[in-house]
Amino acid sequence: DAGVRAGTKQEPKQQVDDKQSVVKARDDHQVVIGLSLDTLEEERWKKDRDLFKAAVERLGAEVDVQAANGDDAKQIAQAENMISRGVDVLVVVPHNAEAGAAIVAKAHQAGIKVISYDRLILNADVDLYISFDNEKAGELQARAIVSKVPKGNYVLIEGADTDNNAHMFKKGQMKVLKPFVDRGDIRIVYDQFTKEWIPANARANMEEALKANHNAIDAVIAANDGTAGGVIAALTGQQMASHIPVSGMDAELAAAQRIVEGTQTMTVYKPIPKLAEAAADLAVRMAIGEKVSTVKTVFNKKIDVPAILLEPIAVDRLNMDATIIADGFHQRADIYRTE
Ligand code: BGC
Repeated sequence: DAGVRAGTKQEPKQQVDDKQSVVKARDDHQVVIGLSLDTLEEERWKKDRDLFKAAVERLGAEVDVQAANGDDAKQIAQAENMISRGVDVLVVVPHNAEAGAAIVAKAHQAGIKVISYDRLILNADVDLYISFDNEKAGELQARAIVSKVPKGNYVLIEGADTDNNAHMFKKGQMKVLKPFVDRGDIRIVYDQFTKEWIPANARANMEEALKANHNAIDAVIAANDGTAGGVIAALTGQQMASHIPVSGMDAELAAAQRIVEGTQTMTVYKPIPKLAEAAADLAVRMAIGEKVSTVKTVFNKKIDVPAILLEPIAVDRLNMDATIIADGFHQRADIYRTE
């Protein structure tokens, strides 16, 4: 599977000193960045879209946004359209890691560079990958749950099998869980991917896990806040919510509310503004023909893709104020549901 091949502590410097001048230098042509999204169904992707668009516009360029509603053929067709309309760079959040390779091939035929955004496109000559350290995100989830329940029956509710990130999250989780499993302290009694990351599918899987184990479950690692919501609904059905730790990811508002209310243990906060702004900056630089280099690379089963991986942050009830509230990611009054 894909993994970080090399890395040093230093992130490359990618600040544009005089952002406006970058695009003005090419006043013969309006720079357009294509953004191809898998879906806008989840809270985070709307943020990604809005922040990315605003950042690109601040740099003097334009964005063409398309969302595929989880349909591979549609995502490829939308990308082809943007390619034929002549976007300068294509930024892609692939619905399907493997199917996304067709987009890269088509873009390259037209001389357009492709940035893989948040999710890695596999088996393709991707020009740049920008994301969070997804293996680390999985480690943070498992560490938080293991610190509450170091022994017992564990359920793993993973993400979509078609999303490389789901595999990276699981890899990070297993790194933490393995010694506990090897010692016989933790038993993984149920382990399933969640089709299309859909919360209702996570709920159905969790109900199956509860039934198969006669409710003898001590902890749940859920891959994101959407799946955590499904898990907690299933636990609520058995009067087990808030008795069993459950992880999540994305710092969605509903998850932050569940954390302060006690039904969800933690979430992984990935500061989307940092990702969107860095991606916008790099996309515009590539569009005007600048060479972009990175310190790290990530192997995508074909090449070592130049990569930038931002730090994910574990958030629970105790550091909620110091992280997502301090950053303005959510308002305190919304999380605590106060007037
Ligand atoms: C993202 C997560 C998101 C999930 C479902 C993953 O690739 O990294 O932040 O929750 O997709 O959309």
